[in-house]
Amino acid sequence: MNFNSLKIGDRLLKAITDLKFEKLTPVQEKVIPYLIDKNEDLIALAQTGTGKTAAFGIPIVHKINCDKKYPQAIILSPTRELCLQISKDLIAYSKYFENINITAIYGGSNIQPQIKSVRSGTQIVVGTPGRVKDLINRKVLKLKTIEIVVLDEADEMLNMGFKEDLDAILSETPSNKQTLLFSATMPNEVMKLSKTYMDKFKTIEVASRNEGAKNVDHHYYMVNAKDRYNALRRICDINPKIYGIIFCRTRRDTKNVADKLMNDGYNADALHGDLSQSQRDHVMSKFRNRNIQLLVATDVAARGIDIDNLTHVINYNLPDENEVYVHRSGRTGRAGRKGISIII
Ligand code: AMP
Repeated sequence: MNFNSLKIGDRLLKAITDLKFEKLTPVQEKVIPYLIDKNEDLIALAQTGTGKTAAFGIPIVHKINCDKKYPQAIILSPTRELCLQISKDLIAYSKYFENINITAIYGGSNIQPQIKSVRSGTQIVVGTPGRVKDLINRKVLKLKTIEIVVLDEADEMLNMGFKEDLDAILSETPSNKQTLLFSATMPNEVMKLSKTYMDKFKTIEVASRNEGAKNVDHHYYMVNAKDRYNALRRICDINPKIYGIIFCRTRRDTKNVADKLMNDGYNADALHGDLSQSQRDHVMSKFRNRNIQLLVATDVAARGIDIDNLTHVINYNLPDENEVYVHRSGRTGRAGRKGISIII
């Protein structure tokens, strides 16, 4: 299905053409026409990399009334990185709209510019739950005019302990709004959330539950624990063009593995919770620009990283939960490209 068969205006279509999107992805085929025609709630089971941001972002930009200077849509996402990515994408879709203001609201950075942006009249808010609640408490952000709420990566938001913040935020929104819930997995907590906050809803499933994306090949190597690091080196050696994330369980492992790789002359760095926000940004930008080939990270640190063309995801240690493996491996094989997920 092509974008020009959608009932969207020329300005939106031109912006999508500029992005060189040609065909709708499967999640977009199911979600975009539905959101454009209907105001009912929706649950979409879709992982990062399926094109889900455009699946909700394009209809939101289509539905917004730019003449009205108050919040009409709010998108809640678990991390600052994801929040910035979503707002960047929305800005790209709406580049030919004149009076549109999209505000990103996230913690760990100066609140004043965010307050100013909301006060100047914003139509779309993209935020992390903690900071959004903060702005509501300060009476800066009012959600009485919200027509669309998106809960993006709902499973991750609940995993990260945002349940109470979400409750507080959703209670500020009108009852006749449209709620869209996107989640890679559907644990009971997400089911409960949807039962509490959603009316009659349609469910769309893109990849079946707990099933990795089909563009990802899964490999494994059986080695003794003491040979784990050497196995990792071999994998890097036989893939000189590797561009990937190596997942470890703990901050200590992450540091150790990254230090060893760097000592052994590999182009690597570590991303973990002990780093300050500016250190994290620095590592991320080096990785994004491919000045680093191997990013060694914990799951928490890697949340929300949206980097295309990763060739490999390496599980230095396996996670306890299947869902975490699905999230990790979903970071490669994006947008139709092939990727490899390796377990050592
Ligand atoms: P997401 O699942 O939203 O993180 O999107 C994954 C990547 O796919 C992003 O880099 C998008 O820019 C890209 N993308 C989204 N929709 C399309 C499309 N219809 N055609 C080509 N690329 C797309």
